[in-house]
Amino acid sequence: MAKPAAADTLRIHWIDVEGGAATLILTPAGESILIDTGMPGLRDPVRIHRHCRDIAKIAKIDHLVITHFDLDHYGGAADLAKLIPVGRVYDHGVRPQDVERVGDAYLTFPAERRLVLTPGDEVPLKQVEGRPPLTLRCLGALQRFIEPTDAHAENPLPEWAKRKDPDLSHNANSIVLLLRHGNFEFFDGADLTWNLEERLVSPRNLVGEVDVYQTNHHGLDVSNNPVLIRALAPRVAVMNNGHRKGCGPEMFAALKDTPSIEAIYQVHRNLRPDGDQANTEPERIANTTEAEHCTAHPILLEVGADAASYTVTVPSTGHAQTYRTK
Ligand SMILES: [Zn+2]
Repeated sequence: MAKPAAADTLRIHWIDVEGGAATLILTPAGESILIDTGMPGLRDPVRIHRHCRDIAKIAKIDHLVITHFDLDHYGGAADLAKLIPVGRVYDHGVRPQDVERVGDAYLTFPAERRLVLTPGDEVPLKQVEGRPPLTLRCLGALQRFIEPTDAHAENPLPEWAKRKDPDLSHNANSIVLLLRHGNFEFFDGADLTWNLEERLVSPRNLVGEVDVYQTNHHGLDVSNNPVLIRALAPRVAVMNNGHRKGCGPEMFAALKDTPSIEAIYQVHRNLRPDGDQANTEPERIANTTEAEHCTAHPILLEVGADAASYTVTVPSTGHAQTYRTK
């Protein structure tokens, strides 16, 4: 009698799109979720497609989430859809003022369905019997968040908290996502910015504590409010920065000062002069060269079948480390 095929583990892959975003989630039931698609032009769609084919071994993207309409997030979507079939597409909704911004290519690329995510919505995911439940929940979009309840811990603003100038850019509209698999939790806040980050976790923490924090906004200093990072209390931070984008000195110091953080991973070495101070250990950096010569190595994470631990690997340096789920 044939043994039933073992279900896969939950995996999260950070694909290098040079300081844009392209986070691929592979579920135990064999579904794929891509969060953002990098820049327009062929470079990023080709990289994402190659990763899907050669490393993730998938022939379709079941769920594509576009967090907001900045080029480094939605820009690659239309060309990617020419390379690999796309199932459902989710975004925060194309408002009248977004139509010109995203253009025809985004509005018309082939997909099975197009849906809008609003705070509290979940992306419907197949479950595997005997495995911890898997959910991907939208906590925020268009500067609105889920309603606070008594279940959300109170988190009064610490006295050291500071505010920054209001963010009038499109980043503030980012969809905020929380992936949960048993006790394992991964936060992808896209490009959410400083004052909204505070609102997300204070006076009540609408996220809770997580295991893995994808640094907001590629690790730029206009995001990554320490009020947010402390409230999320991650063990691991992963930064989808570029050679000269993100990995800001203030953000890097904030990560270093967060007691819960055991390890910081970077898609790129920060090659700016401040990189002397703001770079993690070399073995935790996937790419070290300038964009023109970059061979685009990923960072990979795999959650154990019982979700009690997870392992982060950087194939380009041979690094692998296992962390306990909180
Ligand atoms: Zn961005």
